[in-house]
Parts: sequence; C-alpha cells; structure tokens
Amino acid sequence: MSEREFLDLAEFVGDGISTELSESVHAIAKRLPLEVRFHPVDLTLERRRSDPEAAFEEAEAAIRRHGVALKYPTITETVSPNKVLRDRFHFSVIHRPVATIPGVPTRHDGSVDVHIIRIAVGGTYEDAGRRIGTESAVSIRVIERRPCFEAAQFAFRLAKRLGTDVVSTSKYTIQSATDGLFEEIVREVAAQHSDVAHRSELFDALLAKIIMRPESYRVIVTPNEYGDFLSDAACGMIGSVGLGASASYAFDGEGNVTLAMFDPAGGTAPDIAGQDKCNPSAALWAFSMLLIHSGFRGLGSALDQAIRRTIANGSTTADLGGSLGTRGFTEAVSASLAGLLAGEQTRAR
Ligand code: ATP
Repeated sequence: MSEREFLDLAEFVGDGISTELSESVHAIAKRLPLEVRFHPVDLTLERRRSDPEAAFEEAEAAIRRHGVALKYPTITETVSPNKVLRDRFHFSVIHRPVATIPGVPTRHDGSVDVHIIRIAVGGTYEDAGRRIGTESAVSIRVIERRPCFEAAQFAFRLAKRLGTDVVSTSKYTIQSATDGLFEEIVREVAAQHSDVAHRSELFDALLAKIIMRPESYRVIVTPNEYGDFLSDAACGMIGSVGLGASASYAFDGEGNVTLAMFDPAGGTAPDIAGQDKCNPSAALWAFSMLLIHSGFRGLGSALDQAIRRTIANGSTTADLGGSLGTRGFTEAVSASLAGLLAGEQTRAR
C-alpha cells in the first residue's frame, strides 16, 4: 500500500449520542490498515458550562496541530458551539455531499450524487437587520471576494478530481451587485481551470432542474443562503436530512485548505442516547470524508461503499426500519469494509 501508515485527528466529543458515535468511528478505524490516532477534546455541555474558554482553546490547539477534526453533536444552550468553532477557525466554506442511499425510501426516483460547495459566511446571514418603525425592516447582504474565491477554488479542484464540471448558482440577474460579484469571481477562477467546464444557472431555475434531472449536477458552488436551502432540498430528494455529513474548511491566501472539520448531520438525540439505538452512519460518513481529505482516498471511498452496502442489504438501525443496535450496525459495516478492502488487496496482487 502506497499510503501513509498513520493519521492524527482531533476529535471533538459532544453530548447525547456523541459518545456512541465516537465508539462506532473508533471500531471502524481499528479495521483500517492505518494507525488512526484520535486526540479527543471534551466539548460536552458540562465542560463548556464550567470552563468555556479553556474548552474552545483546547479545541483550537488540537485542530491547529492536526489540521483535521471530527466533531460530534453538541447541545446549544446559549451560544452555538458550531458558531464559536466556525468563528475561531475562520471556516469560510461548507462542503455537503448528497448522494442517493440505496435502500432508503424516497419520493424521488432519480439518482442524486452532488457536492454542494456553500460559502459559509456573509449573504444575508451575518445581519439580523433592524426594524424601521413598525411597518418596515432592512438587513444588509454581504458578498466578499475572499470566501467566493476560496469556495470557487475548492469547487474547481474537486470537480477536476471527480472528472466533472462546475455549476455556479445565484440570482445574478436580480442581485446584480452582490451575486454579480460572486459570479465574476467564479469566472475568474474558472479561467484558471480551463480543463474544467463551468456554467452559471439562476438559482430558482436550478432548483426545478435538479429535481427533474439530478444527474446533470455533480459540483455546485453557491453563496451562503442558497447553499443552505439547496443542501436541505437535496437531502429531501434522497429521503433523509439526518443521514449525511458535511465538512467546514479554512484556507490560506491561495485557496488551499488549512483546517478541515467534519461533522455528521443531525443532533444530539437525547431521547435515545446511551441505549445502543442511534444510527452512526452520518458519523461514519464524516470519518470517510476526513479520510478522503487526508489523502486516504481508497480507504475513505471503501468506507463510504461499506455504509451504503450495509444499508442497502437491509442491515439497519431502527430509524431506517431495521432491528440492529448502534454496535450491531457498526459490526455489519465493519464486516462489509473488511470484505471490500480484502477484495482490493486481492485485485492488487
Ligand atoms: P438537538 O437539540 O441536539 O438537535 P433533538 O433531539 O432536538 O436534539 P435531533 O437530535 O436531530 O434533535 O433528533 C430528532 C429526532 O431524530 C429524535 O427523535 C432523535 O432520536 C432522532 N435521531 C437523531 N439522530 C439520530 C440518529 N443518529 N439515529 C437515530 N435517530 C436519530
């Protein structure tokens, strides 16, 4: 195997089902032909209540040391831990892959396999606005060059790796100054990637077309609020908002990723915590994204496949209609992964 033989990662442990998700990830990591060294940071509510500054400082030191982090769900009491981390780490882009999961019922019969690259700052989300008298309110919408450049650069590099094209989407005809600037920057980045095709589509039209022809979209780059809407819409198409994972990235001036944090969709599920009931798929997908990002593409893709195959075989947790517990499902994914990795080695011989 040509890949490095160890991987260090920060692990941000949170609340509710967080511990069980972490146990599942550790069990899978043990199956990999790779030494995964987890560096846990306690971000539970208890710790954040007693010493918030130290908790987040430790998290920052850990991600800066290792470059990558896996984060499990955390309870939001007053401030959202996700927002604190985003601000501290200067995350400017969120990457949300959404792909059809065989075996998960959906009302949509097309096959979805799309990477949504969302600018994670600005848009209308930085400013809650203000009331003007009783009948009006205003807010400011911000589009800045640097995060547009970073999102576009990430999207084109990803598209090149996947051998596909990039679609940028916004309302550039109406929001001509703000979305016009976004599209202008994407075109500048596109000009540096002449081997990757690019087209711009109006966001409203794209929403209709992605439902009718999802296979026409593989990599989409878009400003903050459109990316937010599109991510949930795409998850609805695959029949689940809780099964995926996403990555948040910070960049250097050239558009290279410096820090990356991967986290499962879904919350802390306090109603089922500690009962061996939660579905760890999203956490395992977050781990698979982390492996791919860290250069272990073969292993990350094998894990992605193993989760899909396990669900497709009907070996699922109760939320997907199955009878397995968290540990049983993890064992099933682990067995499938072992089979996939053994097959690879056999082929490589
Ligand atoms: P939070 O406040 O952290 O968002 P919540 O319970 O309000 O917690 P979710 O955690 O998203 O919101 O849970 C919503 C429902 O989905 C709950 O009934 C929960 O048990 C279920 N659920 C969430 N995550 C999972 C999971 N990984 N596996 C199985 N069921 C889950």
